[in-house]
Amino acid sequence: MSAIGRVLVVGAGIGGLSASIALRRHGVEVDLIERNPAWDVYGVGIIQPGNALRALAELGVAEECVALGHPILGQRSWLADGVTPLHDDAFPALLPGLPPANGITRTRFHSILVHAVRESGAEVRTGVVVTALRQRESGVDVEFSDGHERSYDLLVGADGLYSQIRDMVFGTQYQAKFTGEVGWRINLPRIPELDRLSIYRGSAGSAGFCPLGPDLMYMLTIEKAPAGRPVRLPREGLARVYRERLAEYGGPIAEHRELVTNDADVVYRPIDTVLVPPPWYRGRVLLIGDAAHGTSPQCGQGGAQAIEDGVVLAEEVARDIPAEQVLANFMARRFERCRTIVQGSEQIGRWEQDHSLDIDPDAVAFEVTMAAMAPL
Ligand SMILES: Cc1cc2nc3c(=O)[nH]c(=O)nc-3n(C[C@H](O)[C@H](O)[C@H](O)COP(=O)(O)OP(=O)(O)OC[C@H]3O[C@@H](n4cnc5c(N)ncnc54)[C@H](O)[C@@H]3O)c2cc1C
Repeated sequence: MSAIGRVLVVGAGIGGLSASIALRRHGVEVDLIERNPAWDVYGVGIIQPGNALRALAELGVAEECVALGHPILGQRSWLADGVTPLHDDAFPALLPGLPPANGITRTRFHSILVHAVRESGAEVRTGVVVTALRQRESGVDVEFSDGHERSYDLLVGADGLYSQIRDMVFGTQYQAKFTGEVGWRINLPRIPELDRLSIYRGSAGSAGFCPLGPDLMYMLTIEKAPAGRPVRLPREGLARVYRERLAEYGGPIAEHRELVTNDADVVYRPIDTVLVPPPWYRGRVLLIGDAAHGTSPQCGQGGAQAIEDGVVLAEEVARDIPAEQVLANFMARRFERCRTIVQGSEQIGRWEQDHSLDIDPDAVAFEVTMAAMAPL
């Protein structure tokens, strides 16, 4: 065992939960804090590509995710008319007994990870943030908003795109920036034969479907923010605006557009990204997940990379090496992989905003997906 025996994980989203489970599986003491007192997640779905399933298998929860989700066998794309085919790619299955990819609701996935964390023996406190931290030679002393004060061998900042830990430790030089695109999502009844990601390439973005369960799928649209309109939109009226934004699509998207009627079911957000240059640590504070490499969603890899971060960190912590070496090894295994995903997704986003660019979005998406399937 390395010099890291006691870890604070800040942020109990996909990355923080995965890191906590993975570290506990290697016998590390873990405190996990989460700012959101309700510790809930919004209710659309998430794609778990093969590499996410492989990492989830390391956490002991892949089979449960598959049981509560729906297999995804590959990705097909069409022009916005819904009938002119572009690409048809099959995803490889990485582990026997598991599908090539899985779609699952975010609430189900969250419950699975929360249950595993609770079972793991990690100490969880919600509605709590870090109020001060002091780095020492071989650790970090932390003060919390609930009055606790504790010392750790390592603090893992897994607090997302707008990370407070990143600001506290790296200064404010690395901030999430708006990509020019916005995302729309809604859960709908599944098209009975839907077993692949189905993507339709429009004039200023892409729309598509992802299966989430026997009776459920989600519709996702990523598009250039319309010029001359505010990027932030009030909840009231979201369904009407989303229907309008789908007007150019034919085929199955047009057939499902009229089901978008309830503002509360529509999840809308501007797409921001960040890629912190290496290393993602200062002293004994390490950033993982979106806090270090928040990607745009075109390749469905943001959450997958956050899970992989946790698995790789725990593997390195479990080795009998000094803490500095743990962190250096972590960076060596993580940076290029995450950079490829962030920049590949960014490339597709640029093409979505400007079709004159010489980029084949499906080819880039497939390349990135294949790169992500390489061994960890
Ligand atoms: C439109 C869209 C579609 C996507 N689709 C996919 C997909 O299909 N597949 C995929 O793999 N990824 C997808 N992603 C990306 C994925 O959601 C993120 O990459 C993933 O959630 C990152 O996990 P994280 O734990 O790093 O951050 P988060 O999920 O943001 O979790 C951070 C946690 O930290 C907490 N927190 C924040 N600040 C503090 C603080 N100061 N103190 C304590 N806690 C704090 C938050 O409340 C939250 O619980 C998508 C993203 C978008 C925007």
